[in-house]
Parts: sequence; structure tokens; C-alpha cells
Amino acid sequence: MKIRNRLNPSNPCFSFEFFPPKTPEGTTNLLKTLEELAPLEPGFVSVTYGAGGSTRDKTLDLVARIKRETGIEAMAHLTCVGHTREELRELLGRLADAKVENVLALRGDPPQGQTTYEPVEGGFRYASELVRFIREEDFNFCLGGACYPEGHVETASRDEDLRRLKEKVDAGLDFVITQLFFDNAFYFDFVERARRIGINVPIVPGIMPITNFEQVQRFTRLCGATVPMRLGLQMERVKDQPEAVVQLGVAHATVQCMELLSRGVPGIHFYTLNKSPATRMIVSALRARS
Ligand code: FAD
Repeated sequence: MKIRNRLNPSNPCFSFEFFPPKTPEGTTNLLKTLEELAPLEPGFVSVTYGAGGSTRDKTLDLVARIKRETGIEAMAHLTCVGHTREELRELLGRLADAKVENVLALRGDPPQGQTTYEPVEGGFRYASELVRFIREEDFNFCLGGACYPEGHVETASRDEDLRRLKEKVDAGLDFVITQLFFDNAFYFDFVERARRIGINVPIVPGIMPITNFEQVQRFTRLCGATVPMRLGLQMERVKDQPEAVVQLGVAHATVQCMELLSRGVPGIHFYTLNKSPATRMIVSALRARS
């Protein structure tokens, strides 16, 4: 099933993102997490693509396995990092052979030890080049891409970033998923500006329930997302009480999602970090509401 057919403001879908575990126990835990989340009827799940090394093959294997063994629609993330176009063609061919229908086409971050992104010889500099390549090669994937309500960390300005996003969408994206954000105002403003310049594909908000404040501070430093002052202060107050942090994180994300749904989003994508309880609590509350 192509994800674009599931993104519908009158029946929004919930989706869950995972990363490929490094160990067999990790994979067993992940499949258990999936089992726990299955009753929430996710529209799809997605599996991230590592910066390099052995987990990259695991993305392909895991997506194929989830599709085969759980019946849940699964999307593979794919990045340009370290790959030539021939390698990317081969990887895309393997995904198509495994009957994977959905791909999140990304550039990827600079590899560890590098401050700026440099393509390998014969590789791609921007995600839009990968998207164009996939379309020109006639792969029949439904294609998603990444977008940044607060602007990508490398961009000179949000408007410039949005213009680059328009080029990427025009190259052949069916939908985009946002970087995580904790303040919905960024999302609503972003969607309005995107529509104004003719970006008409579904823009799925990406939500990460905070379950560990230090980890979130690390992420937000890397991706540039703003933690609203009030939430930051509340987190500071309970940071030494792990359960209270989770409760606050779940409460905040639930309120965020309720507002997003009431204003007609086509779906909500949850960054689960391979843990189900927080996402389960939030989605259960959202389902109870409808
Ligand atoms: P691009 O769209 O290529 O943009 C990168 C930068 O280049 C932006 O600043 C943009 O404004 C600029 N730009 C684009 N085109 C041009 C141009 N023609 N000229 C000049 N500048 C240009 N990373 C992983 O490694 N694995 C994952 O699985 C993964 N999953 C993700 C899922 C989501 C939903 C999101 C939001 C991000 C994910 N990332 C992942 C992170 C992502 O790879 C990084 O944010 C990366 O730095 C940018 O990737 P991109 O596809 O957005 O790049």
C-alpha cells in the first residue's frame, strides 16, 4: 500500500519510526514493541538508515520482515551518505524486489568526524538529486522526504530552506515528514508558508515524546528544534525523577497531537526511539478522543 493513500485529514493515520537494532536481542525487543503497537493500527511504520556500517543492511531486512511477518506497511529510509548512484540503484532494486513500496529519500548527515556533507564521487549532494534519480530510473515507489519547520541546521534562512524543499517536492515527492518540534506554532507557520509557494503535498508532523530530558537536549542541539521555555522549566524541575519526566513528556505530546488533529493534519509520525509505552499512551488517548 502506498503511504500517500493513507494520508488523509478526514482519517489521519498514526505512524511509528524505529531504528534498526544492532543485536539479535535488540531485534527481538523491537518485534515485541511492534506487537505492542499493532493494536493501535498504525498506518505505517518506518525504519531509519544508519550513517554507515552494518545496520544499513538491517534497514532493508527489517522493513521486508515487518511487511512479511506483521502485515503492517513499512517504509525504508535511504540516504545518499557514502553511496554512488550505482550502489543506490542496487539498493533500490533490492527494496523493489522485497516488495517495499515506500521509501523516505534523504541526503543524510555528514559522517562522524566531518563537519560538512561531501558526496562520494559519483554520489548525490542533495536529497532532491536522489528523488530525481529514483523517478528517472522508473522505480515505482511512493516517495517521502524530510522537511524542517524551524529550518534545516545548515540553511542560511528558513525561506531559502523552503525554496529548496519546493525543488525537492517538484523532483517527485509524494509527501514530507517534519523534523521533530515541540511548539506547534512552528508547524502551522511552516505549512502556511509552504502552501503559499506551491508545496501541495501532505506535510506530516513528526512528534517525539520526551522520555529522557538529557537525551532530548542532545537531539535538539543537533537538529535545532526549540524546547518552549515553559516545558524546559517544567522538565528541569523533574529531571531527577524519570517517571515524572515521562509523564510530562507524554502529557505535552498528547496536547500537541490533539491540537494538530483538530486543525486537520493528514497523519502524525512518532519518533519512538524503539520504545513503545509513551507512544502507546499518547495514541491510546488520541484514539479514545475520536
Ligand atoms: P536535503 O533536502 O538535501 O537538504 C539538506 C540541506 O541542503 C538543507 O539545508 C537544504 O536547504 C540544502 N539544500 C537542498 N538543496 C539545495 C541546493 N540545490 N542548493 C543549496 N542547498 C540546498 N538521517 C539519517 O542518516 N538516516 C535516517 O533514517 C534519517 N531519517 C530522517 C527522517 C526524518 C523525518 C527527518 C526529518 C530527518 C531524517 N534524517 C535521517 C536526518 C537527515 O538526513 C538530515 O537532516 C540531513 O542533514 C538532511 O537531509 P535531507 O534529506 O533533508 O537533505
